[in-house]
Amino acid sequence: MSDNVEETLESSTSQESLRASQSRSEKIEADLVANPGNWRVLTGDRPTGELHIGHFFGSLANRVRLQNLGVETWVLSADYQVITDRDGVGPIRERVYSAVANYLACGIDPAKATIFTHSAVPALNQLLLPFLSLVTDSELRRNPTVKAEWEATGGRPLSGLLLTYPVHQAADILFCKANLVPVGKDQLPHLEQARVVARRFDERYGRVDSGSGPVFPQPEALLSEAMNILGTDGAKMSKSRGNTIEIGMDADTTAKLIKKAVTDSDRNITFDPENRPEVSNLVFITALCSGRDPQEIATEIGDGGSGQLKKLATEAINERFASIRATRAELLAAPEYLEEVLHAGNARANEVAEATLAEVRAAMQMLY
Ligand code: ATP
Ligand code: MG
Repeated sequence: MSDNVEETLESSTSQESLRASQSRSEKIEADLVANPGNWRVLTGDRPTGELHIGHFFGSLANRVRLQNLGVETWVLSADYQVITDRDGVGPIRERVYSAVANYLACGIDPAKATIFTHSAVPALNQLLLPFLSLVTDSELRRNPTVKAEWEATGGRPLSGLLLTYPVHQAADILFCKANLVPVGKDQLPHLEQARVVARRFDERYGRVDSGSGPVFPQPEALLSEAMNILGTDGAKMSKSRGNTIEIGMDADTTAKLIKKAVTDSDRNITFDPENRPEVSNLVFITALCSGRDPQEIATEIGDGGSGQLKKLATEAINERFASIRATRAELLAAPEYLEEVLHAGNARANEVAEATLAEVRAAMQMLY
Protein backbone atom coordinates (compact mmCIF):
# COMPACT_ATOMS: atom_id res chain seq x y z
CA MET A 1 0.00 0.00 0.00
CA SER A 2 1.38 3.42 -0.88
CA ASP A 3 1.85 5.98 1.86
CA ASN A 4 -0.90 8.10 0.37
CA VAL A 5 -3.46 5.33 0.46
CA GLU A 6 -2.42 4.51 4.00
CA GLU A 7 -2.73 8.13 5.05
CA THR A 8 -6.17 8.45 3.46
CA LEU A 9 -7.29 5.26 5.15
CA GLU A 10 -5.92 6.46 8.46
CA SER A 11 -7.63 9.82 8.22
CA SER A 12 -10.95 8.37 7.10
CA THR A 13 -10.79 5.89 9.99
CA SER A 14 -10.07 8.72 12.39
CA GLN A 15 -12.90 10.80 10.84
CA GLU A 16 -15.15 7.82 11.41
CA SER A 17 -14.05 7.34 14.99
CA LEU A 18 -14.44 11.09 15.59
CA ARG A 19 -18.02 10.90 14.34
CA ALA A 20 -18.61 7.84 16.53
CA SER A 21 -17.24 9.72 19.56
CA GLN A 22 -19.46 12.70 18.74
CA SER A 23 -22.61 10.65 18.52
CA ARG A 24 -21.72 8.69 21.68
CA SER A 25 -21.14 12.01 23.49
CA GLU A 26 -24.62 13.20 22.50
CA LYS A 27 -26.14 10.07 24.03
CA ILE A 28 -24.04 10.49 27.18
CA GLU A 29 -25.14 14.14 27.46
CA ALA A 30 -28.76 12.97 27.55
CA ASP A 31 -27.98 10.29 30.13
CA LEU A 32 -26.09 12.77 32.34
CA VAL A 33 -29.33 14.65 32.82
CA ALA A 34 -31.46 11.54 33.31
CA ASN A 35 -29.00 9.51 35.42
CA PRO A 36 -26.23 11.72 36.80
CA GLY A 37 -25.45 9.07 39.44
CA ASN A 38 -24.18 6.68 36.75
CA TRP A 39 -21.24 8.90 35.96
CA ARG A 40 -17.98 9.91 37.58
CA VAL A 41 -15.94 12.62 35.89
CA LEU A 42 -12.23 13.33 36.19
CA THR A 43 -10.73 16.59 34.92
CA GLY A 44 -7.63 18.54 35.76
CA ASP A 45 -5.05 21.18 34.95
CA ARG A 46 -1.31 21.47 35.12
CA PRO A 47 -0.36 24.15 37.64
CA THR A 48 2.05 25.80 35.17
CA GLY A 49 0.53 29.28 35.46
CA GLU A 50 -2.65 31.17 36.19
CA LEU A 51 -5.97 29.90 34.81
CA HIS A 52 -7.40 32.23 32.17
CA ILE A 53 -10.74 33.01 30.56
CA GLY A 54 -9.98 30.43 27.82
CA HIS A 55 -9.92 27.78 30.58
CA PHE A 56 -13.11 29.18 32.03
CA PHE A 57 -15.18 29.04 28.85
CA GLY A 58 -13.39 26.01 27.35
CA SER A 59 -13.42 23.79 30.41
CA LEU A 60 -14.19 25.11 33.90
CA ALA A 61 -17.75 26.25 33.17
CA ASN A 62 -18.53 22.77 31.86
CA ARG A 63 -17.10 21.09 34.98
CA VAL A 64 -19.35 23.24 37.13
CA ARG A 65 -22.32 22.37 34.91
CA LEU A 66 -21.63 18.61 35.27
CA GLN A 67 -21.16 18.92 39.02
CA ASN A 68 -24.45 20.77 39.32
CA LEU A 69 -26.24 18.08 37.34
CA GLY A 70 -25.28 15.78 40.20
CA VAL A 71 -22.34 14.02 38.50
CA GLU A 72 -19.55 13.01 40.91
CA THR A 73 -16.64 15.26 39.96
CA TRP A 74 -12.91 14.88 40.60
CA VAL A 75 -10.57 17.80 39.89
CA LEU A 76 -6.83 17.18 39.74
CA SER A 77 -4.12 19.79 40.04
CA ALA A 78 -1.58 17.72 38.11
CA ASP A 79 1.57 18.86 39.85
CA TYR A 80 3.83 16.01 38.68
CA GLN A 81 2.90 16.89 35.10
CA VAL A 82 4.49 20.32 35.49
CA ILE A 83 7.94 18.74 35.18
CA THR A 84 7.24 16.75 32.00
CA ASP A 85 8.71 19.55 29.90
CA ARG A 86 10.57 21.92 32.21
CA ASP A 87 13.48 21.90 34.63
CA GLY A 88 11.76 23.07 37.77
CA VAL A 89 8.38 23.29 39.41
CA GLY A 90 8.20 27.12 39.50
CA PRO A 91 6.13 28.79 42.24
CA ILE A 92 4.12 25.57 42.51
CA ARG A 93 2.54 26.12 45.91
CA GLU A 94 1.15 29.55 44.95
CA ARG A 95 -0.11 28.19 41.65
CA VAL A 96 -1.84 25.18 43.15
CA TYR A 97 -3.61 27.31 45.77
CA SER A 98 -4.47 29.93 43.18
CA ALA A 99 -6.03 27.18 41.05
CA VAL A 100 -8.01 25.88 44.03
CA ALA A 101 -9.25 29.44 44.67
CA ASN A 102 -10.28 29.72 41.01
CA TYR A 103 -12.10 26.39 41.11
CA LEU A 104 -14.10 27.38 44.16
CA ALA A 105 -14.77 30.94 42.98
CA CYS A 106 -16.03 29.60 39.63
CA GLY A 107 -18.47 27.25 41.35
CA ILE A 108 -16.71 23.95 42.08
CA ASP A 109 -18.24 22.93 45.39
CA PRO A 110 -15.95 20.94 47.70
CA ALA A 111 -19.03 19.29 49.23
CA LYS A 112 -19.75 17.74 45.83
CA ALA A 113 -16.32 17.57 44.19
CA THR A 114 -12.90 16.22 45.19
CA ILE A 115 -9.98 18.57 44.51
CA PHE A 116 -6.56 16.88 44.86
CA THR A 117 -2.91 16.86 43.71
CA HIS A 118 -0.79 14.03 42.27
CA SER A 119 2.04 14.36 44.72
CA ALA A 120 -0.17 13.80 47.76
CA VAL A 121 -1.59 10.49 46.51
CA PRO A 122 1.17 7.81 46.45
CA ALA A 123 -1.15 4.91 45.58
CA LEU A 124 -2.27 6.72 42.41
CA ASN A 125 1.33 7.08 41.28
CA GLN A 126 2.12 3.47 42.14
CA LEU A 127 -0.43 2.34 39.53
CA LEU A 128 2.04 3.63 36.98
CA LEU A 129 4.29 0.59 37.50
CA PRO A 130 1.87 -2.15 36.44
CA PHE A 131 0.35 0.19 33.83
CA LEU A 132 3.72 0.88 32.18
CA SER A 133 4.16 -2.86 31.65
CA LEU A 134 1.00 -2.83 29.53
CA VAL A 135 2.20 -0.37 26.86
CA THR A 136 5.09 -0.36 24.44
CA ASP A 137 7.51 2.43 23.75
CA SER A 138 6.43 2.62 20.10
CA GLU A 139 2.81 3.10 21.14
CA LEU A 140 3.88 5.98 23.33
CA ARG A 141 6.07 7.53 20.63
CA ARG A 142 3.18 7.36 18.15
CA ASN A 143 0.72 9.12 20.47
CA PRO A 144 -0.18 12.35 18.59
CA THR A 145 -0.71 14.33 21.78
CA VAL A 146 2.73 13.37 23.10
CA LYS A 147 4.20 14.35 19.72
CA ALA A 148 2.42 17.72 19.77
CA GLU A 149 3.44 18.47 23.36
CA TRP A 150 7.02 17.52 22.60
CA GLU A 151 7.13 19.68 19.45
CA ALA A 152 5.83 22.59 21.53
CA THR A 153 8.96 22.38 23.71
CA GLY A 154 11.10 23.49 20.77
CA GLY A 155 13.64 20.71 20.48
CA ARG A 156 14.02 19.87 24.16
CA PRO A 157 15.07 16.25 24.71
CA LEU A 158 11.94 14.16 25.32
CA SER A 159 11.81 13.35 29.02
CA GLY A 160 10.70 9.91 30.22
CA LEU A 161 7.89 11.62 32.09
CA LEU A 162 6.57 13.35 28.95
CA LEU A 163 6.83 10.13 26.94
CA THR A 164 4.87 8.20 29.55
CA TYR A 165 2.40 10.91 30.44
CA PRO A 166 -0.59 9.26 28.73
CA VAL A 167 -0.02 6.33 31.12
CA HIS A 168 0.14 8.66 34.10
CA GLN A 169 -3.10 10.18 32.86
CA ALA A 170 -4.58 6.67 32.64
CA ALA A 171 -3.66 6.27 36.33
CA ASP A 172 -5.35 9.62 37.10
CA ILE A 173 -8.54 8.45 35.45
CA LEU A 174 -8.52 4.83 36.58
CA PHE A 175 -7.48 5.17 40.22
CA CYS A 176 -10.86 6.75 41.01
CA LYS A 177 -12.62 4.64 38.37
CA ALA A 178 -13.85 7.70 36.53
CA ASN A 179 -15.96 6.59 33.60
CA LEU A 180 -16.21 9.94 31.86
CA VAL A 181 -13.56 12.44 30.81
CA PRO A 182 -14.49 15.74 29.13
CA VAL A 183 -12.00 16.29 26.31
CA GLY A 184 -11.39 18.23 23.13
CA LYS A 185 -10.83 16.10 20.05
CA ASP A 186 -7.04 16.55 20.26
CA GLN A 187 -7.09 14.62 23.55
CA LEU A 188 -8.94 11.57 22.26
CA PRO A 189 -5.66 9.60 21.89
CA HIS A 190 -5.03 10.03 25.63
CA LEU A 191 -8.38 8.66 26.48
CA GLU A 192 -7.87 5.77 24.09
CA GLN A 193 -4.62 5.00 25.93
CA ALA A 194 -6.51 4.85 29.24
CA ARG A 195 -9.07 2.50 27.69
CA VAL A 196 -6.30 0.27 26.36
CA VAL A 197 -4.61 0.14 29.78
CA ALA A 198 -7.91 -0.75 31.50
CA ARG A 199 -8.64 -3.47 28.95
CA ARG A 200 -5.16 -4.98 28.96
CA PHE A 201 -4.98 -5.01 32.73
CA ASP A 202 -8.09 -7.12 32.87
CA GLU A 203 -6.99 -9.36 29.99
CA ARG A 204 -3.70 -10.01 31.72
CA TYR A 205 -4.78 -10.29 35.33
CA GLY A 206 -8.02 -11.96 34.48
CA ARG A 207 -10.57 -10.85 37.03
CA VAL A 208 -13.02 -10.77 34.12
CA ASP A 209 -13.64 -14.52 34.36
CA SER A 210 -13.80 -14.62 38.15
CA GLY A 211 -17.32 -13.25 38.20
CA SER A 212 -16.36 -10.08 40.03
CA GLY A 213 -16.09 -8.01 36.84
CA PRO A 214 -13.13 -6.05 35.56
CA VAL A 215 -11.03 -4.02 38.00
CA PHE A 216 -11.24 -0.92 35.80
CA PRO A 217 -14.15 0.52 33.84
CA GLN A 218 -13.29 1.70 30.35
CA PRO A 219 -13.62 5.46 30.55
CA GLU A 220 -15.52 7.32 27.86
CA ALA A 221 -14.89 10.69 26.25
CA LEU A 222 -17.34 13.52 26.62
CA LEU A 223 -16.35 15.41 23.51
CA SER A 224 -16.84 19.13 23.81
CA GLU A 225 -17.29 21.57 20.96
CA ALA A 226 -13.73 22.76 20.32
CA MET A 227 -13.67 26.29 21.64
CA ASN A 228 -10.59 28.25 20.78
CA ILE A 229 -10.32 31.52 22.65
CA LEU A 230 -7.47 33.61 21.28
CA GLY A 231 -5.13 35.66 23.44
CA THR A 232 -4.22 39.32 23.13
CA ASP A 233 -1.57 38.54 20.46
CA GLY A 234 -4.06 36.72 18.21
CA ALA A 235 -2.64 33.23 18.94
CA LYS A 236 -4.47 30.66 21.08
CA MET A 237 -4.77 31.96 24.63
CA SER A 238 -2.24 29.92 26.57
CA LYS A 239 -0.58 30.18 29.98
CA SER A 240 2.86 29.75 28.48
CA ARG A 241 2.47 32.47 25.81
CA GLY A 242 1.92 35.43 28.12
CA ASN A 243 -1.14 36.44 26.08
CA THR A 244 -3.83 35.66 28.63
CA ILE A 245 -6.62 37.46 30.45
CA GLU A 246 -6.47 35.65 33.76
CA ILE A 247 -9.65 34.76 35.63
CA GLY A 248 -8.22 36.51 38.69
CA MET A 249 -6.92 39.71 37.04
CA ASP A 250 -8.26 43.04 38.25
CA ALA A 251 -10.49 45.26 36.11
CA ASP A 252 -7.74 47.81 35.29
CA THR A 253 -5.23 45.20 34.18
CA THR A 254 -7.93 43.62 32.03
CA ALA A 255 -8.66 47.01 30.43
CA LYS A 256 -4.96 47.67 29.74
CA LEU A 257 -4.41 44.26 28.15
CA ILE A 258 -7.53 44.43 25.98
CA LYS A 259 -6.49 47.93 24.84
CA LYS A 260 -3.23 46.45 23.52
CA ALA A 261 -4.91 43.41 21.93
CA VAL A 262 -4.22 42.85 18.24
CA THR A 263 -7.11 43.73 15.88
CA ASP A 264 -7.16 44.83 12.22
CA SER A 265 -7.54 48.09 10.33
CA ASP A 266 -11.13 47.66 9.09
CA ARG A 267 -13.31 50.10 11.11
CA ASN A 268 -16.48 48.17 10.42
CA ILE A 269 -16.80 45.44 13.03
CA THR A 270 -18.07 42.07 11.80
CA PHE A 271 -18.22 38.57 13.25
CA ASP A 272 -16.23 36.54 10.74
CA PRO A 273 -13.92 34.13 12.65
CA GLU A 274 -12.39 32.71 9.47
CA ASN A 275 -11.27 35.98 7.87
CA ARG A 276 -11.03 38.26 10.89
CA PRO A 277 -9.94 36.01 13.77
CA GLU A 278 -8.73 38.71 16.19
CA VAL A 279 -11.74 41.02 15.88
CA SER A 280 -14.15 38.08 15.92
CA ASN A 281 -12.45 36.68 19.02
CA LEU A 282 -13.14 39.90 20.94
CA VAL A 283 -16.75 39.86 19.71
CA PHE A 284 -17.03 36.20 20.74
CA ILE A 285 -15.61 36.82 24.23
CA THR A 286 -18.04 39.73 24.64
CA ALA A 287 -20.89 37.41 23.60
CA LEU A 288 -19.81 34.61 25.96
CA CYS A 289 -19.50 37.01 28.88
CA SER A 290 -22.82 38.73 28.30
CA GLY A 291 -24.84 35.75 27.04
CA ARG A 292 -25.63 37.59 23.81
CA ASP A 293 -25.40 36.70 20.14
CA PRO A 294 -22.03 37.59 18.52
CA GLN A 295 -23.60 38.71 15.20
CA GLU A 296 -25.89 41.07 17.07
CA ILE A 297 -22.97 42.56 19.01
CA ALA A 298 -20.95 43.09 15.82
CA THR A 299 -23.89 44.78 14.06
CA GLU A 300 -24.46 47.01 17.05
CA ILE A 301 -20.84 48.22 17.03
CA GLY A 302 -20.85 48.62 13.23
CA ASP A 303 -18.51 51.50 12.32
CA GLY A 304 -17.58 52.09 15.96
CA GLY A 305 -14.22 50.44 15.20
CA SER A 306 -11.95 48.43 17.41
CA GLY A 307 -11.99 51.16 20.09
CA GLN A 308 -15.69 50.61 20.68
CA LEU A 309 -15.26 46.82 20.45
CA LYS A 310 -12.50 46.84 23.06
CA LYS A 311 -14.56 49.02 25.37
CA LEU A 312 -17.49 46.62 25.17
CA ALA A 313 -15.26 43.54 25.55
CA THR A 314 -13.56 45.00 28.63
CA GLU A 315 -16.89 45.89 30.25
CA ALA A 316 -18.33 42.45 29.49
CA ILE A 317 -15.30 40.58 30.90
CA ASN A 318 -15.09 42.76 33.99
CA GLU A 319 -18.79 42.38 34.65
CA ARG A 320 -18.84 38.61 34.05
CA PHE A 321 -15.89 37.96 36.34
CA ALA A 322 -16.52 40.63 39.01
CA SER A 323 -18.10 38.36 41.59
CA ILE A 324 -15.77 35.44 40.76
CA ARG A 325 -12.80 37.77 41.28
CA ALA A 326 -14.19 39.09 44.56
CA THR A 327 -14.77 35.57 45.89
CA ARG A 328 -11.34 34.49 44.71
CA ALA A 329 -9.67 37.42 46.49
CA GLU A 330 -11.52 36.62 49.72
CA LEU A 331 -10.47 32.98 49.52
CA LEU A 332 -6.83 33.87 48.95
CA ALA A 333 -6.88 36.33 51.82
CA ALA A 334 -7.77 33.51 54.24
CA PRO A 335 -5.77 30.55 52.86
CA GLU A 336 -6.61 28.25 55.81
CA TYR A 337 -9.90 27.37 54.15
CA LEU A 338 -8.19 26.56 50.84
CA GLU A 339 -5.76 24.33 52.73
CA GLU A 340 -8.63 22.57 54.43
CA VAL A 341 -10.35 21.94 51.10
CA LEU A 342 -7.20 20.57 49.48
CA HIS A 343 -6.27 18.44 52.49
CA ALA A 344 -9.77 16.95 52.59
CA GLY A 345 -9.66 16.30 48.83
CA ASN A 346 -6.24 14.65 49.12
CA ALA A 347 -7.46 12.51 52.04
CA ARG A 348 -10.44 11.30 50.02
CA ALA A 349 -8.26 10.67 46.94
CA ASN A 350 -5.86 8.63 49.11
CA GLU A 351 -8.68 6.53 50.49
CA VAL A 352 -9.99 5.73 47.03
CA ALA A 353 -6.49 5.19 45.57
CA GLU A 354 -5.57 2.78 48.40
CA ALA A 355 -8.74 0.78 47.80
CA THR A 356 -8.04 0.57 44.06
CA LEU A 357 -4.41 -0.39 44.64
CA ALA A 358 -5.58 -3.15 47.00
CA GLU A 359 -7.75 -4.54 44.19
CA VAL A 360 -4.81 -4.32 41.79
CA ARG A 361 -2.53 -6.15 44.26
CA ALA A 362 -5.16 -8.85 44.69
CA ALA A 363 -5.66 -9.24 40.93
CA MET A 364 -1.87 -9.49 40.49
CA GLN A 365 -1.62 -11.93 43.41
CA MET A 366 0.76 -9.63 45.21
CA LEU A 367 -0.73 -10.20 48.63
CA TYR A 368 1.93 -11.03 51.18
P1 ATP B 1 -0.02 25.47 28.71
O1 ATP B 1 0.53 26.76 28.15
O2 ATP B 1 0.70 24.96 29.95
O3 ATP B 1 -0.25 24.40 27.65
P2 ATP B 1 -2.75 26.26 28.47
O4 ATP B 1 -3.10 27.65 28.86
O5 ATP B 1 -2.66 25.97 27.00
O6 ATP B 1 -1.45 25.85 29.26
P3 ATP B 1 -3.92 23.75 29.08
O7 ATP B 1 -3.58 23.26 30.45
O8 ATP B 1 -3.17 23.23 27.90
O9 ATP B 1 -3.82 25.32 29.12
O10 ATP B 1 -5.49 23.60 28.81
C1 ATP B 1 -6.34 22.80 29.58
C2 ATP B 1 -7.72 22.80 28.97
O11 ATP B 1 -8.28 24.12 29.04
C3 ATP B 1 -7.76 22.49 27.46
O12 ATP B 1 -7.84 21.13 27.23
C4 ATP B 1 -9.01 23.21 27.02
O13 ATP B 1 -10.16 22.46 27.33
C5 ATP B 1 -9.02 24.44 27.89
N1 ATP B 1 -8.39 25.58 27.21
C6 ATP B 1 -7.11 26.01 27.37
N2 ATP B 1 -6.86 27.07 26.62
C7 ATP B 1 -8.01 27.34 25.96
C8 ATP B 1 -8.39 28.34 25.00
N3 ATP B 1 -7.54 29.27 24.61
N4 ATP B 1 -9.64 28.32 24.53
C9 ATP B 1 -10.53 27.37 24.94
N5 ATP B 1 -10.23 26.41 25.82
C10 ATP B 1 -9.00 26.39 26.33
MG1 MG C 1 -1.92 23.99 26.22
